[in-house]
Amino acid sequence: MDLIAADSKQMVRALPQVVPGAACFRCDVCCRFPEVDSFLRPYFTDHEITQAVAHGLPPASFPNKSGSQINLVKSSDGEGYLCPAFDAQSGRCGIYEQRPLDCQLYPLALMWDESGQDVLLGWDTKCPFMRDEPSRSVRICAEQVEQWLRSEAIIEQLVAHPRLIGRFQDDVIVLSKLPHLTTRLTQQRTDPRLRPLTPADAPAFAAAVERAHVLAADRPAAFAFPYHYMWTSVLSYWWMELNGTWFLFAQSPDGWFMPLPPLGPGSLDQAVDQAFTLMQRWNGSSPVSRIEHVMDSQKSNIRVEGIQFRSKEGDYLYSAAALATLTGDSYKSHRALCNRAAREQAILIEPYRASDQVDCEGLYRRWAAQKRQDNLDQLGTLLLEDAEPAHRLVFQEHDRIAVSGTVFRVNNELVAYTFGYALTPRTWCVLLEVADRSIPGLAQWVFRETCRTASAHGAVSINTMDDAGLPGLRAAKLAYHPTTVLTTWIATRTTT
Ligand code: SF4
Repeated sequence: MDLIAADSKQMVRALPQVVPGAACFRCDVCCRFPEVDSFLRPYFTDHEITQAVAHGLPPASFPNKSGSQINLVKSSDGEGYLCPAFDAQSGRCGIYEQRPLDCQLYPLALMWDESGQDVLLGWDTKCPFMRDEPSRSVRICAEQVEQWLRSEAIIEQLVAHPRLIGRFQDDVIVLSKLPHLTTRLTQQRTDPRLRPLTPADAPAFAAAVERAHVLAADRPAAFAFPYHYMWTSVLSYWWMELNGTWFLFAQSPDGWFMPLPPLGPGSLDQAVDQAFTLMQRWNGSSPVSRIEHVMDSQKSNIRVEGIQFRSKEGDYLYSAAALATLTGDSYKSHRALCNRAAREQAILIEPYRASDQVDCEGLYRRWAAQKRQDNLDQLGTLLLEDAEPAHRLVFQEHDRIAVSGTVFRVNNELVAYTFGYALTPRTWCVLLEVADRSIPGLAQWVFRETCRTASAHGAVSINTMDDAGLPGLRAAKLAYHPTTVLTTWIATRTTT
């Protein structure tokens, strides 16, 4: 088969298909997604969007006509989300002949390696056709696709649409490295100084925090690596170091922002100015450029022209001793709930182990369903959806990012988990805490245990992070009588 056609728009038609059509039609994996914003949604180039719209897809399915992932629609059976081109009745793609390159490649996948340095060709084991060692036919197909990926027209498409190269997925079997694509794509990145955030960057992050002298006990939870790393499951995080100052950037669908002020020993003014200059260059006129989690003490020292601040939800800080004992009238109801859980349940506490991951994921889904019954607003629903992959990443990587986990069982069933990290030697930060809401008092009992353990290990303060603007969460956090709610700011700069 001649894989290299003359016209790049025709070229994708020449891609070999290794999975037999009959196997595809029996399968219920492709084109269906568990979350509305799944990072696996197919990406369409500008030309593919034009083709798809010409074949009946609504233009509104594509947030950016110059190239974007498709907007999913809710499945009519209420189970997850579907690509709008998918016909659930027939189990077929409604634009099969015009389906995008991203779909034509599948279950082969283009992705960056774990460190974001190399482009890889892999086989996605989420496809049920092959979950073990790649067969000879898969290897042959991959070699043909590799050859096809060397065509200049295809390279130009990938360079113009770098999001066709996905993030690293550990359930994709790596078949080969594609160094020619690595070179071409790296040159084209927004800024060649950017590096993807990986667990290997945790020590450099900690050293930068130390150099920046933001080690006070009341520093926000965001001044710690795990806080950001867990969200790499949803957004791309990048960093660069300029003159000894560490800059952490996040890339959202709307553009670039900084989830943390620059971390360096020198002038914060200069670094903030530099950060806005970079973001405004990358984002163009988009108003998304911002620096989050500016501490109150930093705000008064930033005197950059055009800078503006608006307040952000702050972290809640508590006395570890008070929450470990829950004494006094102000904790009467919490104490009663803890006592009820202790009276009615035999709760077993164990350190989290890798073998607990499946049960923790099941508990998260159960807990999220219980929360949805509380008439969650749209923001709450979106946060629950985003949080699921973030929790999963913490289950997988907790050891590498210095997060410790504990699980709780009742009658051999996993009913709660908690993960946290030492924000300072005297402050314990609760990163994740989930408890089965059908067991009265369990959430309060688990939180008290977390505080007892932290207190026994020397913590004097507990940080439960912010309330994400959710009124129910705010009320629950206030009911524990915080000693402080930190004031933090979001900085923006007007463009001239
Ligand atoms: S475009 Fe077609 S093949 Fe691709 S995800 Fe949508 S329905 Fe499936």
